[in-house]
Amino acid sequence: MGKKARLPSVTKRMDDESDAKKFQFVFYCDCCGQGYRSAPIRFSVAGTSDHIENFTAAQKLIYEAEYEDAYERGNRNALITFKPCEVCRRRVCEDCTDGQEFDHICSDCRAKQ
Ligand SMILES: [Zn+2]
Ligand SMILES: [Zn+2]
Repeated sequence: MGKKARLPSVTKRMDDESDAKKFQFVFYCDCCGQGYRSAPIRFSVAGTSDHIENFTAAQKLIYEAEYEDAYERGNRNALITFKPCEVCRRRVCEDCTDGQEFDHICSDCRAKQ
């Protein structure tokens, strides 16, 4: 199967909360660990089974494709939610930069200045 290489998560820590019925991901601020949970996306052909292992081959293929799409969408939103700190380049939330548009520096780096 020609599978696309998955992009790395925008943030260092990411949890996959996807199951047999939906796709959902949680991204965590690199500085304070605050989580951003992506909007759940329903698996389009979710059946009665709660176990991916019980899917038909066709369901599994669709599941994989939709999983990749949902992950990319979540990752894109994380890109907007967590902006890079100008000093350490980690992806940090608005709270960590005090909502400043300029001097976008995380609280860890500000403390060191
Ligand atoms: Zn933060
Ligand atoms: Zn920083």
